[in-house]
Amino acid sequence: MQHPLIQGYLRFRQNRYLEQQKLYETLAEGQSPKTMIIACADSRVDPATIFDARPGELFVIRNVANIVPPANQEGAFHGTAAGIEFAATALGVEEIIVFGHASCGGIKACLHDHRQHHQTLSDSKYLGPWVQLADESIRHVLADHHDDEESLQTAAEHRSIIDSIERLKEYPFVAERIADRSLKLGGAWFSVRSGELHWLDTDSGQFSTINES
Ligand SMILES: [Zn+2]
Repeated sequence: MQHPLIQGYLRFRQNRYLEQQKLYETLAEGQSPKTMIIACADSRVDPATIFDARPGELFVIRNVANIVPPANQEGAFHGTAAGIEFAATALGVEEIIVFGHASCGGIKACLHDHRQHHQTLSDSKYLGPWVQLADESIRHVLADHHDDEESLQTAAEHRSIIDSIERLKEYPFVAERIADRSLKLGGAWFSVRSGELHWLDTDSGQFSTINES
């Protein structure tokens, strides 16, 4: 019995790779994606699948809860910040989209941790401090009225996207490119259950559902 990943690779090689062989050969010369997506590592929300993107189209960084960390961190190894720098400078992407989703475990953990006065995740070496980056977003939405836990969770997921976009603007190489109007920032959110996409209007800070038409 072959490893499931090898089985998957063989299907890919016989189908999608053959269909897109020319594209892969062209892409071997280099990539020039126009869009960067910062998405959650969650196995259910693959950006290339949801946005029906071809190889070479999206430059993707995935981390727990699709969080953009603050720009002013000192001396840390930072994969997400390095990816943002590479996309904004070397690749020169035209757009960076922070892409969140429903039932996000990272946001849920941060929400839970907030209620437990940071008792639960504080023992974890990496995960706790990381998801606590969303704590300000949690505090923001807890101040509003929510009908139920699900609507609170959605509000936190939406708010965290908006706050991550604000933190993106603190990176000098992002700020410069926004100033010369060569880079736009945006946000989106995906419902795993219904397949619904909410798209952020960055002027109003409101999300609206994308309808098929
Ligand atoms: Zn998530």
